[in-house]
Amino acid sequence: MCNCVSYNLPEPYQMDEPVIINGISVDACIADTMRAVWNAGISTGCCCCGHGRQDPSIIITHVGDVDYTRKVIEAVDNRRWQILCNVTAVVGAANADGIRAITTDMNEEGNNG
Ligand SMILES: [Zn+2]
Repeated sequence: MCNCVSYNLPEPYQMDEPVIINGISVDACIADTMRAVWNAGISTGCCCCGHGRQDPSIIITHVGDVDYTRKVIEAVDNRRWQILCNVTAVVGAANADGIRAITTDMNEEGNNG
C-alpha cells in the first residue's frame, strides 16, 4: 500500500505529497505512470492512485484510446488500473454522472471494493 496523501480522505500515515507535473498535481506513486501516459500523447481528465483503498484509476477523454492507454500503463506499472472514459466528451450526451466505466472487472457500483 502506498502512502500518498489523500485530500478528500486523509489518513495520518499518508506522508507522500503529490508530485507536480506541468502544473498538474499527481499522486506520488503514479507520477511515473502518468508521465508515460502523457508522453504517449494520451489526453486525460484526471487520475488517482486509489490510496490503497482502490485500484489506481485514470479518466481518458477519447474512448478509442482505451487499449493504447492500457498498453502504455502495463509497460511501466504492474498494478491493475481502472481506465475510465468521460463519455459526455465523446458522444456529447449527458448521462447521470458523465463517467462510464470501460473496464469490465468492476462491480455494479463501479468500484472494486
Ligand atoms: Zn499512491
